[in-house]
Amino acid sequence: MKEILKKIRKVKSLKLLVLIDLIISHYLFKPIAISIIVSFFAVQGFKILQDFVSNYNYVSDLKKKANSIKINILKSKNGVDIYEEQIVDYQVKKGDTVLKILLDLGVSEADAFSILEATKKVYNPKLINNKSSLTIKYKAKVDYEDDSGSIEDSKKDVVVIEMEISLSPELEIKVSRKEDGTYESKEIKLALTKNVTKYYGELNSGLFVDGVQAGISPNAMMNMINLYSYDVDFQRDIKKGDKFEMVVESFYTKEGKKVKDGNILFTSLVIQGKPIEIYMHLVNNKPEYFDAKGNSVRKSLLKTPINGARVSSGFGVRRHPILGYSRMHKGIDFAAPSGTPIFAAGSGTITYYSVKGGYGNFVQIKHNNDYSTAYGHASRFVKKLRLGSKVKQGDVVAYVGSTGRSTGPHLHFEVLYKGMAINPAKVKATSGSRLGGKELSRFKAAKEEIDRYRKNVPNQIKN
Ligand SMILES: [Zn+2]
Repeated sequence: MKEILKKIRKVKSLKLLVLIDLIISHYLFKPIAISIIVSFFAVQGFKILQDFVSNYNYVSDLKKKANSIKINILKSKNGVDIYEEQIVDYQVKKGDTVLKILLDLGVSEADAFSILEATKKVYNPKLINNKSSLTIKYKAKVDYEDDSGSIEDSKKDVVVIEMEISLSPELEIKVSRKEDGTYESKEIKLALTKNVTKYYGELNSGLFVDGVQAGISPNAMMNMINLYSYDVDFQRDIKKGDKFEMVVESFYTKEGKKVKDGNILFTSLVIQGKPIEIYMHLVNNKPEYFDAKGNSVRKSLLKTPINGARVSSGFGVRRHPILGYSRMHKGIDFAAPSGTPIFAAGSGTITYYSVKGGYGNFVQIKHNNDYSTAYGHASRFVKKLRLGSKVKQGDVVAYVGSTGRSTGPHLHFEVLYKGMAINPAKVKATSGSRLGGKELSRFKAAKEEIDRYRKNVPNQIKN
């Protein structure tokens, strides 16, 4: 038995199958054979695991060595001291501290602390993270005592001349050594160049994903989606093959690397051949967004004045769940948990704010001469609001409940046009704020300029 086991342990894995066959057919009965095979795997498995761990340690050691800061000193043939300037670029990794990096480089503790103290005057060195990088310019003096080529730590003499902590493409901290050997620090804001970039492409996997793949920053894509959230139902309206366009301000480093996108100047979504165009125009120096005619896009009513709800009952004639007979359902019901915030679908004035028969707790908002919206069955109202209070689009006005004639927590939402309930799903836009007079002329000039960009700026889309 022992001999067999020894044999088995020696055998390389490639020969394993042959051996198993051998044991079963020649040496032993099956049950014994199987127990041997099992113990073989137990032993072998442990060994594999050990190998794996040691290999892993070996590889990670190699990685550490490859990543650690190397002092790049040339050894002269005749062994004289060398004192020269070096620059090291170091990408900060998890667990790094400025102190550790400096000490690893071979800087004396006194100098390292002095550098830290200077840094603290403009920046907390503890805040460096794996997005930061360090550029350290230093002098290294080495005394050679033998020809072995190895440099003992005790013989290094590393003096930092300058250290730059790059925190973002726009900001760096510079710590410099003064004549007297002390350090001073300052914050440097790096200038970025603003350009106008155009992206034009076809939708394939979804507006956000396609936009980001095209090279547009996630931030700008979120802004674009927000601009369309009043008019477009992203889950249902957009189809593969629809097109998008964006003209956006982009900021670049002096090396020509894009750092971020700024304001969206223009955006278009072509949904089944129909473009929805949005232009930016500065009003009181703030970017505002309008359609080509100068109507504010933000004045349209929200189609869903609640987050994460599903439509439980649409607009139209239906059999009433409590009253039992067919009647007109004048709004849309959104099923949502009790307490879910209800948003004002548009800016306006609160014209009703209390219990109203079967509607339970009821809120009505007047948006302009033509349009109002109403919200029923709320569990409670927002405390600070009163009859006559002004609300902005998106403000919370009440919370979902089941007050009045209701079978469960939901929001009953109505849109009223000249006092008549209309289908909220079909509401296009309220003609809310519209530019006029001088502002409209300024808008038209801005629009012309944007249209010139659209024509002349090349498409930057990544393929
Ligand atoms: Zn309802």
